[in-house]
Formats: sequence, structure tokens, C-alpha cells
Amino acid sequence: MTDSRTVYRAARSTAAAVDPGPEAEEFRREFRAWLSEHAPPELRGVGWPAVQGSPHAAALKAWGDVLCEAGYMCVAWPREYGGRGLSPVEVAIMNEEFDRAGVPRVTRGRAETTVGPAIIAHGTEEQKAYFLPRIISGEHVYCQGFSEPEAGSDLAGLRTSGVVDGDELVISGQKVWTSGYYESTMMFCLVRTDPDAAKHAGISYVLLPVAENGPGTGIEFRPIRQLTGRSGFAETFLDGARVPLFNVIGGLHQGWRVTVTTLGHERGNRATIAHVGYARDFWAVVEEARARGLTDDPAVREKLAWAWTQIETMRFSGLQLLAALAAGQDPSARAENGSVTKIRWSEYASRFGEIAVDLLGPEALTAGGTGEEGLGYWQEQFLSSRSGTIWGGTAEVQRNIIAERVLGLPKERKGAGR
Ligand SMILES: Cc1cc2nc3c(=O)[nH]c(=O)nc-3n(C[C@H](O)[C@H](O)[C@H](O)COP(=O)(O)OP(=O)(O)OC[C@H]3O[C@@H](n4cnc5c(N)ncnc54)[C@H](O)[C@@H]3O)c2cc1C
Repeated sequence: MTDSRTVYRAARSTAAAVDPGPEAEEFRREFRAWLSEHAPPELRGVGWPAVQGSPHAAALKAWGDVLCEAGYMCVAWPREYGGRGLSPVEVAIMNEEFDRAGVPRVTRGRAETTVGPAIIAHGTEEQKAYFLPRIISGEHVYCQGFSEPEAGSDLAGLRTSGVVDGDELVISGQKVWTSGYYESTMMFCLVRTDPDAAKHAGISYVLLPVAENGPGTGIEFRPIRQLTGRSGFAETFLDGARVPLFNVIGGLHQGWRVTVTTLGHERGNRATIAHVGYARDFWAVVEEARARGLTDDPAVREKLAWAWTQIETMRFSGLQLLAALAAGQDPSARAENGSVTKIRWSEYASRFGEIAVDLLGPEALTAGGTGEEGLGYWQEQFLSSRSGTIWGGTAEVQRNIIAERVLGLPKERKGAGR
């Protein structure tokens, strides 16, 4: 794999050529020094900070508390709302430094990247003062209650109802595929509050407390067992769940514009970092393949070369995005950033999962691992990567967005072919 390593070095020097400017470099120096002093040795080499079933859960929580205390949580949020006001370039630098130090960047997950920005953009000052600090501290951990049976891609087709009763909203209906329900204390969910209004006009965006759930509470999670054997998500049944009207963001019936903000962040925020974890996995597979004497096989080399090309493509488009940001442009306004990035990483991850198990042979499918369900790392990657082209907007729907908004092709006829 000498050739790929050479390409890698060349790419690194191109990365260095994107000049983030003296202030960002000053931030890099400061943050690197802080990280070298505080990074917990027990978390070195721990990749994705998923918590369910993780033997590192306690250490990850403690590391999150240290980052929070030092002001390195929700860093892209404005300072006035408890963030650090870092530019996207500085956030990318921070990710690079975490990667260099070999420790995971614990974040507040979707609360940090989707709900938080939606509250900042559409909430009242009172709502910001109440909800944002609780996200930063980790007290409010959110799950997403958007999808319903028969309302996934066609999100605005949702039927869960919210009826105003005094200063409360009473919610009934069903959500599905609620990821991370097991650790959540809150759910950001969409409810139809005006059944007579046009499809997109009668929806409200509600922050629903879910820490108390189960029979009799009006909120019940029923775990769904998935391909990996885990139950990372659930069906959610809402039956008269009550929430103060204070928790409606953006105004009653005005939830669609808040949703658009949320979805934009959900689809766009991986562009500059997706390649980092994939590169780590790639080199791990190369080492395993080398140990098995496979790296001289032309068919194996072809697969690995394909994978590395994809990773480099992701990294370069991330750099393009960063360069645009460093030049003061707002690339998030361009549809291709979210949709193209989403298709690229999700289809790559799925194909690379296949390549990995293929190269590692039966051992990759039969060896017991340390995961909760006894899965090995590559089994887990292979199985869980299947879902990447579905969640967060399916690949088909992303292609429609690119066709219509980027290429300017005629709009899809409603109901065509389905
Ligand atoms: C692992 C995972 C985690 C998830 N987590 C969450 C979560 O936490 N919260 C949440 O709210 N949701 C979650 N989801 C749900 C996810 O957002 C939906 O599955 C997704 O939006 C697709 O909706 P659907 O499953 O109803 O499929 P459908 O919309 O019924 O689509 C079925 C098929 O038809 C295709 N299709 C639909 N419309 C079109 C069109 N206009 N043109 C071309 N093809 C089309 C789709 O691409 C797909 O192949 C999760 C899903 C997965 C797999």
C-alpha cells in the first residue's frame, strides 16, 4: 500500500495549504496544549463515542464533564448562549486536534447540532435561557420524534396530534425509529396542531420531556430489535402526553420552518469530518489484510484503492467547504453540500463494510466480539452501515433534491411511480 500512503502524504500537504488564518492557528496552539494536558489516557484509541453497551461509558461521561467545564462543549454556538462562538474552520481544527491526540470528541450529539441551532434560530429569549444550558450540561439528552408509520420521507404527512388545553399541549399518536430513546430525557417532535390547515402549515415543533415514560405516563417506548441484535431504537406511543406550551419552538402551527433548520443541520454537518473515522478504519483493515498476506493480491489492492479514493474525495470536498468558509462564504445555503455529502458517506460506509468482512473472511462474521451482543467490530460496522442510506433522508430522496435544486431538472410528479 505504499502508493496509497504516498497519496495520503500528498493530500495532507494539500490540507495544510488551506490557510485558516493566524487567529485560527492561535486557537489550534491553545487547544493542542490544553488537550495534551487533559486528554484521559484511558480513552486513547477509543473511536466513536457511542454509549449504549460501551465499556467506556463512564470514562466518556467524565471526559464530557471535563470538556464542558473548560468551555469546549457546543463550541459553535454563540458565546451569549453558552457556546464558544467558534467558526466552522476552528471547529474543524478542533476535530483535527482530537484526532491527532487520539481521543474522542464527546459532544452533545443531535442536541448540539440540530435542536440547539433550531432553538437559537427560532426560540424566544426565555426558551433559549431555559433549554440551551441544559443541553450543554448534558441534563437534556434528546431523541428525535419525527418519523411515523407512513410518514418518513413524506415527513409533513404526520398524524400525531397536539390539542391545546389551557397552557398545555396534549399529544397523542405514534412515532417510530426513535434512536437513542434509552438515554434520552427529552424528545424534539412534530405534532399536528391544526388539522384543517394545509399539510405544512398546521405542524408544531415541541420539546417533550420523556425521562418519565412507561405505562401510565402517556409516553411508552417499545424497543425494536435490529440487525445487530441491539435495540438502538424504539416505537414511541404517545397517549395524552402533556407538555407546557412554553415548549413549543417557533410558535404554534409554525413548526415547519424550525424543522427545515433542523434537517439542514442534520444532513450537512458531517462534510468536514466524515473522512477522519473512515481513514482510521481503512488503515486498520489494511493492517489486518497485510497480516493475512493479502495485500499483494491485485483484486484486494483494487478494492482498497477504491476505498482510499473515496475517503480522499470526501476529505477534499470537506476542504473545499472549509476553504469556502474561510473565505467568508455561506456554503450551507447550497443544497449540494448536505445531499451530496449524505449520499457519498452513506454509500461508502455500506460498501466498505462489505469489503472489510470480505477481506477478513469467515472470522469477521463468526468471531465473538466484546460488544453487547457479542459482535466483533467489523461485524458491527458491516451490519450497522446498512442503515446509513435510509436515516436522515434516504439516498433516493437526496438524489431527488440534487436533481431538482442543484441540476434544475423538472420537479417530481407527486405519487409518480409509488
Ligand atoms: C437506523 C435508523 C435510525 C433512525 N432514527 C430516527 C430517529 O431517531 N428519529 C426519527 O424521527 N426517524 C428516524 N429514522 C427514520 C428515518 O428518518 C426514515 O426511515 C426515513 O426518513 C425514510 O422514511 P420511511 O422509512 O418511512 O420510508 P418511506 O418514506 O416509506 O420510503 C420507502 C422507500 O421509498 C423511497 N421513496 C420515498 N419517497 C420517494 C420519492 N419521493 N422519490 C423516490 N423514492 C422515494 C425511499 O427512498 C425508500 O427507499 C431512522 C431510520 C433508521 C434506518
